[in-house]
Amino acid sequence: MEAHGRDGDHQATSRVGFTAHPFVSSGEPMRVLPAESVRWLSGFGNPAGSAAYVFEPRNVEELRYLLASARAAGKQVVLRGSGRSYGAPSVLSEGLAISLAKMNRFLGIEDGIALVEGGATLSELWRASLPRQYWPEIVSGTALPTVAGAISMNIHGKNAFKAGTYGEQLVGIELLRPNGELVRMSPTHPEFWAVVGGAGLFGIVVRAWVRVHAVPSGGVQVHARSIKSLSEQFEAFREFGASADYMVSWVDCFGGGRGLFHAANYAETKIGFDPAKQLPAGRIGKVMPRDQAWKLLKPFTNKFGMRTVNAVKYGLGRALSSSKPHVESLAAFNFLLDSMPGWEQSYGESGLMQIQIFVPEDRAELVFGEVIEMQNRMGLVSFLGVMKKHKSSPALLDYSVDGYSLAMDFPRSSDPRLLQELGIKIADFVIASGGKFYLAKDDLLTPAQFEKMHGIEAVQRFKLMREIADPERLLSSELAKRLNLA
Ligand SMILES: Cc1cc2nc3c(=O)[nH]c(=O)nc-3n(C[C@H](O)[C@H](O)[C@H](O)COP(=O)(O)OP(=O)(O)OC[C@H]3O[C@@H](n4cnc5c(N)ncnc54)[C@H](O)[C@@H]3O)c2cc1C
Repeated sequence: MEAHGRDGDHQATSRVGFTAHPFVSSGEPMRVLPAESVRWLSGFGNPAGSAAYVFEPRNVEELRYLLASARAAGKQVVLRGSGRSYGAPSVLSEGLAISLAKMNRFLGIEDGIALVEGGATLSELWRASLPRQYWPEIVSGTALPTVAGAISMNIHGKNAFKAGTYGEQLVGIELLRPNGELVRMSPTHPEFWAVVGGAGLFGIVVRAWVRVHAVPSGGVQVHARSIKSLSEQFEAFREFGASADYMVSWVDCFGGGRGLFHAANYAETKIGFDPAKQLPAGRIGKVMPRDQAWKLLKPFTNKFGMRTVNAVKYGLGRALSSSKPHVESLAAFNFLLDSMPGWEQSYGESGLMQIQIFVPEDRAELVFGEVIEMQNRMGLVSFLGVMKKHKSSPALLDYSVDGYSLAMDFPRSSDPRLLQELGIKIADFVIASGGKFYLAKDDLLTPAQFEKMHGIEAVQRFKLMREIADPERLLSSELAKRLNLA
């Protein structure tokens, strides 16, 4: 397998929101961690984070040294990807945070399998794959997460109804256990499906063999359909389900579930395999720098503004969706949210809470309808709703179901107590209806809700396997503590 390093592409600062302390290992583990390495860490949706000692090691030896140092200093360790999970799975107050931003090499592709280091981002993976006429089998709505972060949360894409979750696209992983042992695991390894979706609690994913698939071009043909009601949303997913490669729908929660559905298929198009031609220009209308565009959204990021924005968006969708299918690049279609960098800042300093509910097919319409009504009754309506179709996955703590998901973004600023109350109500109702929540987006589940959702047996098995993998409980996070997982 051919290998090539990609210097200067670490993006450490933008990924984790800090410049990590330059790291040099020496013989003896550190007993006192250097104050200069202290940085502020938060989740994507919640700036209220924690201070931690942050390091960016360059190889397995340095990783082992850091694990030994954490032990010697009596600190727990949190593993940090790009910090793109909404809650706190990669935040740990006063812990030692290890980021693999400097272990991000793309090591090659052979027979549709890419070998990458855990700190490589999905962006780094697709940029290396596309010129070879391959596209990663699964990507999330942003390309910024790392491959290790994608494995640990078991992410999904807009093709979840066909491709499932990230774990199913892995051929193998290399894991550095908390005791320093380096092990390779394929999906048949007894621990594999606990590590996948295991929130970084089993060891450090150092390398991964990830499936990529041949594509006929760098583009997709996109069909847009204006949707008048929630039941029409489900009809569209059913109609396109057998033929589409990707499906996703915008849901207007102010408007009872109306919206705009998109289905896409790989296309023989003029868009070639050049990564530079995949993304929109750096300036909008040749004037406004794209990374400043979120400021235009800011005056509207409130209840009344968003009701209007949603109504305008729906109206525009109705007018435009009657036109013929159009072609978009694979990156523009998959990473729509990245086309407005920093959009989350429009929610102000207190950030946003995303709740993504997963509900079995036969109950999804009823549950989504009730959840949208609950928000309207309580006067706290999601600014953005996104619907996808899914199938269940073999992961031990599997959030995905044979059904549908609805992701909803709420501002934290309006009324934090009311938001918490709404979140808990939604969680109780969804879990009682046989639905699930996703750790990458969870900021509110209680251990009891978590146990009910996965079943006590699966949670006990997870804890037992973790006890064996990490008997000293070296690995942890704020999320793991809240859910009694570490
Ligand atoms: C705008 C936006 C859109 C999104 N869209 C989607 C979507 O469409 N589908 C979807 O599924 N998700 C989506 N997500 C969520 C995101 O893909 C996941 O949260 C992903 O796990 C983030 O990866 P990360 O590298 O930032 O990891 P972090 O968020 O930093 O960490 C995630 C977990 O990985 C662990 N971890 C990090 N590095 C390692 C390592 N080397 N070894 C072992 N464990 C490690 C951490 O401890 C933590 O538990 C979206 C997020 C955002 C912000």
